Amino acid sequence: MKQFKTQSKRILDLMINSIYTNKEIFLRELISNASDALDKLKFISLTDQNAKQDFAINISIDSVNKTLTIEDTGIGMTEEELEKNLGTIAQSGTLNFKQENQGKTDEELIGQFGVGFYSAFMVADKITVYTKSYNGKQGYKWESKGAEGYTIEECEKDNYGTKIVLKLKEDCEDFKYSDFLQEYKITSLIRRYSDYIRYPIKMEVTKTVKKEGSPEDKPEYEQVKEIETLNSMVPLWKKPKAQVTEEALKEFYKNEFHEYIDPLKGIYSKIEGAVTYDSILYFPQKPSFDYYSKDFKKGLKLYCNGVLIMDKCEDLLPDYFGFVKGIVDSSDLSLNISREILQQSRQVKAIANGIEKKILSELKKMMEEDRETYDKLWTEFGLSIKFGAYAGFGMNKDKLKDLLLFYSSQKEKLVSLAEYVKNAPQDQEFIYYASGESYEQISSLPQIEKAKEKGVEILFFKDGVDEFVAKLLTEYEGKKFKSVSEADFSLSGEDEKKELEKKTEENGELLAKIKEILGDNVKEVKLTDNLKTYPVCLISAGDLSIEMEKVLNAMPNAEQKVKAEKILQISSTHSVLEKLQKLYKEDQEKLSKTVNVLYQSARLLEGLPVDDTPSFVTFISELI
Ligand code: ADP
Repeated sequence: MKQFKTQSKRILDLMINSIYTNKEIFLRELISNASDALDKLKFISLTDQNAKQDFAINISIDSVNKTLTIEDTGIGMTEEELEKNLGTIAQSGTLNFKQENQGKTDEELIGQFGVGFYSAFMVADKITVYTKSYNGKQGYKWESKGAEGYTIEECEKDNYGTKIVLKLKEDCEDFKYSDFLQEYKITSLIRRYSDYIRYPIKMEVTKTVKKEGSPEDKPEYEQVKEIETLNSMVPLWKKPKAQVTEEALKEFYKNEFHEYIDPLKGIYSKIEGAVTYDSILYFPQKPSFDYYSKDFKKGLKLYCNGVLIMDKCEDLLPDYFGFVKGIVDSSDLSLNISREILQQSRQVKAIANGIEKKILSELKKMMEEDRETYDKLWTEFGLSIKFGAYAGFGMNKDKLKDLLLFYSSQKEKLVSLAEYVKNAPQDQEFIYYASGESYEQISSLPQIEKAKEKGVEILFFKDGVDEFVAKLLTEYEGKKFKSVSEADFSLSGEDEKKELEKKTEENGELLAKIKEILGDNVKEVKLTDNLKTYPVCLISAGDLSIEMEKVLNAMPNAEQKVKAEKILQISSTHSVLEKLQKLYKEDQEKLSKTVNVLYQSARLLEGLPVDDTPSFVTFISELI
């Protein structure tokens, strides 16, 4: 007996003890696996006569032995594939299952990995899989009663494909598993969940027909068994538009992409023109667990006249819309086109163009008409779009800039740049932003307080990429971006400015002394009237901001540490200024310690580490 991989066991337990109420979806999962396997063999059969067989899914019910069997004539599995595919759930080796998934509910967990084959354990206490791969000569039998493990042995099998026999659980108070032995139940489940599967799903059904030879006026009836195809086999995108309802789109999504949670939105479109194609695109609710990792593969399913030719055609999606799932079916592509040629194909390029435009316009529409949903999408995928605006020196920034959202200090919610500009007073020259690691840290930046008091809206840049995007955009609708941590950021009026100049002159010697104490740590020491309760803050002097310094130094291959030029600002209205003056005149040694402590505090406010912790702590205790 072989053991399931540890992480699989946990999901398996979830399945077996089935918290999930919707047990019937196991059938959809097994049928969509069968359909995928048929797709694979069908594609091979385009060029290999040996792969040609009757492509179908057969279902049979054995009410005596209480088994339900689902058999396909698809590509099948080799011994290794059996081991790999049915011995492991959540195959990504890099995934640290426990750590990354703490605090998630069972449903969320299943949703993240997809239920797949294992969902059969919700209804069966024993599963036997017979399979023979197109890539191997021998048939194999896999069997498992659940968490204990599984066995694999050789077996006889004639044709390519996979046969899955489910020994259903005994009926209990909570659930009647024997329902799945009823023809009508299976028929209705197939119609509901799997109608658009492109291969016939056949089952022997009992029909009541008129007895042959019985008189017309006094007909007698008898029951006969007949093999019937239960599904319409018309792919959703080939159905009349009226039938492509929101419900149907959702169902199709779960079927086609082995998803468990509804999408945020499904979009169906038919394009006729230079290239003709149908597409169904989906915005998922959540990124897949590997979305923001190197392992992630984007792409749309590509069909040519209803035949799947590629499972993930990368070229159809730009990276920044990599989260979009969907299918494209075009009759303008050649069926036995190789993948290399596909990449060069003019048609694929044209389709990709059309798809990108469609996604852009749908996102803009959603932003205007259903902001709540757009905010959700942005929270999950905004980072991807922001990276898109930044990537390639901003070559796509103009396409994407209207989609960007940032948290607003004033509205306390996400706003677009257009909304910011519309809200700002006519004479406000800039779009103000503040950078930091989290909303909390940014809202406690010294500069924010004053801005709030003056009613100036500040955008919070909490992702490392935000400031780089702003630098690339440089402006939006004529307003330039300005950080509250830039040297010339000021919210003061003329009088206030004069007052500040005067004070700066009066304190000239003190400021020079403080600069001397801090040496190269800062480029300048200045007075500011941007602060309210805080005595000091650090701002950047050059183009490289303090936040950018943090981001760049955190990059995995940052060779040389970069350093933003910093200016220490001292509040012109805070009592600390007078105290410094006093120390300057009376106790230079204490001044030096105080200045150091103030400088380190300013670093902390910016989210930077203390430079020299021992001295810092010593100075503080001495000053106390
Ligand atoms: P998913 O289908 O989401 O990848 P599953 O757990 O349902 O996850 O299946 C795991 C893998 O097992 C599939 O990706 C496929 O390679 C293989 N598999 C499952 N069912 C079949 C089948 N009927 N024929 C061939 N391969 C199958």
